[in-house]
Amino acid sequence: QNPLVVVNHLKKHFNVGKGQILKAVDDVSFEIYPGETFGLVGESGCGKSTLGRTLIRLYDATSGEVTFEDKAVHGHKSKAELKQLSRSIQMIFQDPYASLNQRMTVTDIIAEGIDAHGLAKNRKERLEMVYALLETVGLNRNHAERFPHEFSGGQRQRIGIARALAVNPRFIIADEPISALDVSIQAQVVNLMKKLQEELGLTYLFIAHDLSMVKHISDRIGVMYLGSMVELSESDELFENPLHPYTKSLLSAIPIPDPKLERSRERQVLHGDLPSPINPPSGCRFRTRCPFAMDVCASQTPEWKEAEKGHWVACHLYDEKNEAVSLSKTI
Ligand code: SF4
Ligand code: MG
Repeated sequence: QNPLVVVNHLKKHFNVGKGQILKAVDDVSFEIYPGETFGLVGESGCGKSTLGRTLIRLYDATSGEVTFEDKAVHGHKSKAELKQLSRSIQMIFQDPYASLNQRMTVTDIIAEGIDAHGLAKNRKERLEMVYALLETVGLNRNHAERFPHEFSGGQRQRIGIARALAVNPRFIIADEPISALDVSIQAQVVNLMKKLQEELGLTYLFIAHDLSMVKHISDRIGVMYLGSMVELSESDELFENPLHPYTKSLLSAIPIPDPKLERSRERQVLHGDLPSPINPPSGCRFRTRCPFAMDVCASQTPEWKEAEKGHWVACHLYDEKNEAVSLSKTI
């Protein structure tokens, strides 16, 4: 199966003045396959939102490339190509309140894309499309003429989802779509997104700061730290067999309800603050907080490598192991 999205050595740097460069995304490579949910996780400031925004062309790439359906996302595009791209890829935001225009009715909010792309023949058809979208996300036509402030956080996120769906996208980038919602509402929104994915064949990039938030929705998960991807694998594999010390520390921060398991688990608490992505540590960026740091970690950037099938990691702890694996293959 061909990937829907290919991210190849992508860098997104910001010039922050005084000759300083913020390396928000620094040499990240991965692929997203049609119909999957790719969870992207990391602390705030790790570059995950910047990565999401670069994929949808809200930012130019500093270097490297992104392809969507085998076509480059960045660089010069005709008007028709840009229009096609803005239909194919949609975004859902963390704060549905801030991202919905407070002065517009729900109908006008949802119909923005319908209007921009001329998808409705007339006003009646436009309204029918809006009604259908409201029902798709678990709202109804009685909500159509109301304003965003009249809705709860979960309902507003449903409106944001309806707005994204209005143009029939293939790929949706959801940037912390449930982080601002009550815990009781989070599962409802995740379940809605799963249902829509099955019905509409959608592909998701689901961004979150917490592994427990992406666990149930993601097929595969990528973990970012300070602008780099440090680990990527299938979701179950990541939870059962985390390789990178940073992933291990994120996992040990998730409480386990069973006290027996809780006691048997090795605790690994993260010390120190997240360093600045301006002048990040040399070598492995995680070394200032890593309990396993070695000399080589300061002098050499760990390679991004497939330590086990489909399980990628950037950490010197797996250098030798990786050689052993490739050796055993050649024998
Ligand atoms: Fe820790 Fe070194 Fe691995 Fe970085 S490369 S995570 S510092 S062991
Ligand atoms: Mg963010």
